[in-house]
Amino acid sequence: MSESLVTVFYIGATILFILSLGGLSHPETSRRGNLYGMIGMALAVLATILGPRVTMAGVPWIIVAMVVGGSIGIYAARVVKMTQMPELVALMHSLVGLAACLVGFANYIDPAAASGLTSTEKHIHEMEIYVGILIGAVTFSGSIIAFGKLSGKIGGKPLLLPARHWMNLLGLLVVIYFGWHFLHTETVGAGMVGLTVMTVIALLFGIHMVMAIGGADMPVVVSMLNSYSGWAAAATGFMLSNDLLIVTGALVGSSGAILSYIMCRAMNRNFISVIAGGFGTGGGTVAVASGDAQPVGEVVPISAVETAELLREARNVIIVPGYGMAVAQAQHTVCEITKLLREKGINVRFGIHPVAGRMPGHMNVLLAEAKVPYDIVFEMDELNEDFPDTDVAMVIGANDIVNPAAQDDPNSPIAGMPVLEVWKAKTSIVMKRSMASGYAGVDNPLFYKENNRMLFGDAKKMLDEVFIALKS
Ligand code: NDP
Repeated sequence: MSESLVTVFYIGATILFILSLGGLSHPETSRRGNLYGMIGMALAVLATILGPRVTMAGVPWIIVAMVVGGSIGIYAARVVKMTQMPELVALMHSLVGLAACLVGFANYIDPAAASGLTSTEKHIHEMEIYVGILIGAVTFSGSIIAFGKLSGKIGGKPLLLPARHWMNLLGLLVVIYFGWHFLHTETVGAGMVGLTVMTVIALLFGIHMVMAIGGADMPVVVSMLNSYSGWAAAATGFMLSNDLLIVTGALVGSSGAILSYIMCRAMNRNFISVIAGGFGTGGGTVAVASGDAQPVGEVVPISAVETAELLREARNVIIVPGYGMAVAQAQHTVCEITKLLREKGINVRFGIHPVAGRMPGHMNVLLAEAKVPYDIVFEMDELNEDFPDTDVAMVIGANDIVNPAAQDDPNSPIAGMPVLEVWKAKTSIVMKRSMASGYAGVDNPLFYKENNRMLFGDAKKMLDEVFIALKS
């Protein structure tokens, strides 16, 4: 395939990637968005393999690598549980970072990569290598730690070393010094010293940065690492002079950065303070009182039959799903109950918090999988004002996203985070197994409110009982 034909394929792939991102912005068009992305990627890989830069001798190696990598990918995608998706995503980001590092080192060692370059071009090429490995190493080690934290292998509590900001600053100065040293060396052997020292510091920085971030900020960190992995890919594109990789990396990098910003807004967090770390706990299982305001009132349990009665008598119902619905895999029963209630003429809607569950869009994916109609699924801002006119707000396995302390208690660790105001409904029903706290590890005064009822038990089991009671 000629260089110009490869360019045509690359432009086609770029357009498909942009259409893919556009499609993924809404549940209704997300399948199409995925399809565009897959076709774009297939075009990109085909054009690269068949292009003039790959010799025929290299093709079998690429095919072997694709079969091995593809098989691992298919296996991981099949066995991963929906609740483990953020960990898998973090692990995948780490691979992008690792790839950027390996390509950088290989590019530096390969004498052919810099042959025929003028002195200025050589310096620019070396800068690309240095920066590419730097971003790649931070992404790699940071993502591994994020994987450890999300999977519970590493505690969620922020690790706050003394003088940690000074340590980071010192690391940055050393990286700049060795960058200068690297650009002024004549031999590959001498350059490897600076490159290796910088890589070690970048790896340590990635570990330190994510270790300092508390459990409650992990969603932002995952999307931030997503952004880093995009910039690492773009840097790899510069090293390899591959325009498509630069464009794709920039698309991932900028969309990840925009997502991080949106999530920060949804959690009322400042991006800089997230990166500075220290917020949130390990996502405890024991209820912890937060700030000054100790919850007052009595916890009133309710049975599945009583829940069904309240639902049957309601005119307006808002369902708020959270992480527990994902754990219990209760989305299909939720959909059945919704159908039944709508057949009875009850107005049922879903309220989705931007950080409900454990990854952006977690609840939308589950509800779409269960075939809940898109037109009754609303963003938090779209229906938060409707709770006073709602008869029953049914909270299914959610906790932090419906915590009134975010509004009422300025000392709460989640103070200022926008929440779904379910307590303003005539009756709120919270479905969970115990009084345990949610991901942020803070107690929830909602459970003690007069108009709140607790339906204790596994969400799937309890909803099955509610469904049977509704039908009878
Ligand atoms: P939470 O983690 O606050 O609460 C989930 C609740 O579900 C728990 O309190 C738990 O209580 C209950 N639960 C667990 N398993 C079951 C089950 N089988 N049946 C019924 N209930 C169950 O979840 P939210 O969705 O309310 O909030 C999301 C939190 O996660 C936020 O703090 C957010 O910042 C964070 N986060 C979000 C990410 C994202 O991108 N969306 C990524 C990472 C973190 P019990 O044990 O008593 O059953």
